[in-house]
Amino acid sequence: MRPALLDHVGRMTDGDLPAYVYDLPGLRGHVQAIRAALPERVELLYAAKANSDPSILRTLTGCVDGFEVASGGELRHVRALTPEAPISFGGPGKTPAELACALEAGVERLHIESEHELRLLTTLLGDRTVAALLRVNLPVDVGEAALAMGGHPSPFGMDPAQLDHCLELIAADPRIGLRGLHLHLASGLRAPAQLALIDEALTWAADWAHQRGIDLTEVNAGGGMGVDYAHPQTKFDWPAFGAGLRRILARHPHLTLRIEPGRSVTAYCGWYVTDVLDIKFSRGQAFAVLRGGTHHLRTPAAKQHDQPFEVIPEEVWPRPWDRPEARDEPVTLVGQLCTPKDVLAHQVMVRRLRVGDRVAFAMAGAYAWNISHHAFLMHPHPTFHHVDDADVPAAGTYAPQMS
Ligand SMILES: *Cc1c(COP(=O)(O)O)cnc(C)c1O
Repeated sequence: MRPALLDHVGRMTDGDLPAYVYDLPGLRGHVQAIRAALPERVELLYAAKANSDPSILRTLTGCVDGFEVASGGELRHVRALTPEAPISFGGPGKTPAELACALEAGVERLHIESEHELRLLTTLLGDRTVAALLRVNLPVDVGEAALAMGGHPSPFGMDPAQLDHCLELIAADPRIGLRGLHLHLASGLRAPAQLALIDEALTWAADWAHQRGIDLTEVNAGGGMGVDYAHPQTKFDWPAFGAGLRRILARHPHLTLRIEPGRSVTAYCGWYVTDVLDIKFSRGQAFAVLRGGTHHLRTPAAKQHDQPFEVIPEEVWPRPWDRPEARDEPVTLVGQLCTPKDVLAHQVMVRRLRVGDRVAFAMAGAYAWNISHHAFLMHPHPTFHHVDDADVPAAGTYAPQMS
């Protein structure tokens, strides 16, 4: 944790815990480095579902070329925060009300998931026009991916053979402008695997368009740039990715490539900070029971990993009895929920961990608070802090949009 964040955590009272602490200058620097690594003709959108915290979205505005949203709720939320930013609307199961909302909001791109969705759209357009991408599920091998959305039977996108019916519908409707294809096939790939997948997908897309006499101007290759929770220092290799994209795009001189990462943009800017309520030994194994748990930070339970953490020692011990502690041994860090699934890190070596010490979980800026089951057991919600070194605001409570 960098000094400005540690300072901030040092000023928090126990009443502020658990707390989410967002490093806004860290986020700004990270996304600017991503941007700088990407060649021309690559547009960077941020997938809002990774974390739609308002300050995070405001920080990203201006650093990215737009936002990808996947629900009417995200659409309204992002539009209200950044009225000027281009928005792409994707995701399966768009309701007629959501499609109408997208048309009303004038979204820049609509990612079409099925022929039925396209037909629904034509009934809602009226005298408006829309720019669309067809989402295709390519028959490719997604290899080492942590999550595969395509390359096998899935509810996302269309089989290549299903695209032709959509082309006929679009050809018959001048209100719909086909810009190209959308393919978000897998999450959790390192740069070489992402590049290989994009290379294969663009070759396929170019052939597909050529055979049909389509002028393909745009492909959105989705997100899924890998985040390695076991090695927090090893980040997705954006410079190698950018250099690889430059080589690939040289073979597609008229194409604009869009990417829409989420996790790899915001994962590193968030911390979940809490304190140790109890240290227990069960059949010789050490357990640290923390305030909060996976109902605030579901990421390690969802992805079955150990969430990386730092211990922030608290020297004051106000009780008259010996302070429970674990020393030079593996400790399992659990939360307050009455379920064995409430594990944040499993048997991780610590030098010393005592009741009252604080623990700061790293990489909690994406798919963390917003994917967690907050209501379970009715514990209090965390407080939310946005550290912007120049101007460190007081603790605030962020009310997420649940509608
Ligand atoms: C979830 C999602 C993303 C973002 O994925 P990350 O793994 O967070 O980068 C991008 N595009 C689509 C269509 C998605 O569903």
